[in-house]
Amino acid sequence: MSIESGTRTWQQEPSAAGRREGFDEITILWISEGMSCDGDTVSMTASGQPAIEDVVLGLIPGLPKVNLHNKVLSPSEGGEDFLRPFRAAARGELEPFILVIEGSIPNQNIISGDGFWTSFGNDLETGEPLTLNWWIDQLAPKAWAVVAAGTCATYGGIHAMAGNPTGSMGLADYLGWDFKSAGALPIVNVPGCPIQPENFMETLTWVLYHAAGSAPPPPLDEKLRPQWLFGKTVHEGCDRAAYYEQSDFAKDYNSPKCQVKVGCWGPVVNCNVPKRGWMSGVGGCPNVGGICIACTMPGFPDMFMPFMDEPTGAGLSSILNKPYGAFIRRMRAITNYPANQEAKWHHNGPELTSGYDPYWRPGRKSDNRSPARAGGQHR
Ligand code: SF4
Ligand code: SF4
Repeated sequence: MSIESGTRTWQQEPSAAGRREGFDEITILWISEGMSCDGDTVSMTASGQPAIEDVVLGLIPGLPKVNLHNKVLSPSEGGEDFLRPFRAAARGELEPFILVIEGSIPNQNIISGDGFWTSFGNDLETGEPLTLNWWIDQLAPKAWAVVAAGTCATYGGIHAMAGNPTGSMGLADYLGWDFKSAGALPIVNVPGCPIQPENFMETLTWVLYHAAGSAPPPPLDEKLRPQWLFGKTVHEGCDRAAYYEQSDFAKDYNSPKCQVKVGCWGPVVNCNVPKRGWMSGVGGCPNVGGICIACTMPGFPDMFMPFMDEPTGAGLSSILNKPYGAFIRRMRAITNYPANQEAKWHHNGPELTSGYDPYWRPGRKSDNRSPARAGGQHR
């Protein structure tokens, strides 16, 4: 490389100049037979940007052709017809595919004797149910990417709460937090109970663009969550945070004020729902009157129960905030009064009193200074 003034002449191609290889077509194998309510599948259908229909109909430029197999959404006759691509992938006859798991993973090892916690199809030779665990063991190592949809699949969620009989856990607890898919991706966790529709579809779209060879891997944090979605707290995006700052707290659930004293965990929860809304910017949680119960968090639900009690730490922070918040609220109320008055030259009288000077030039002294520049009085 030689550098002259203002110009650069490259003597060789950058090493990454070759076209990145990507897939033109990819299959999504979605298993919701974890300990699951199918709420994440249902939630996903509410996404508008992008809509799942747009993805499967090939309406998004640059994405591979997507073959979606989800029991709620797929146009199949069910039964063996639905299971066919899953069986083919397990035999190593279908690739590339993205494995999506919905629901938490039960612990089969704690069962003594026969039985299973949850299953998906039967063994064709024996007729015995095939457990979710069997399917994960078969499919996860062959999958180009593995995605966990919802807090149950990511971290165990409600089915893994204290006292559960199934020993349920999240996918990374089952496969290992350092698991890498055939496409060299870690598990991609999209928590939420359920997933916020566009949080999931944005993440899936990023994974698909990566599969197409036109995007880097999605950036994930140490809990394998997409950083751009879960990097900020609920509180940082809550439009009730001004009430918090002014130490103005709701005492019941019918108040428009900050709900921290009636159970909101927003200040310590990673989630973007109040900022994003639920569908098309409408809805949410604390922004529209529902306390944040921390449904996206690895410690959910046990760390945050009982939900409607004041969170640990909220009492201290609200006490520390009280002198400042009460003073600032009072001062803002005082300044709010003049800010609500119009200027006195807004009138219908016979004289123009706005201070307009047709001969005004910058720097020229004038006795006829505008009321605004002269510090005009408000009515
Ligand atoms: S309602 Fe919750 S998230 Fe919103 S400002 Fe109050 S504590 Fe923060
Ligand atoms: S704001 Fe709280 S309760 Fe609502 S989706 Fe996010 S983590 Fe769950």
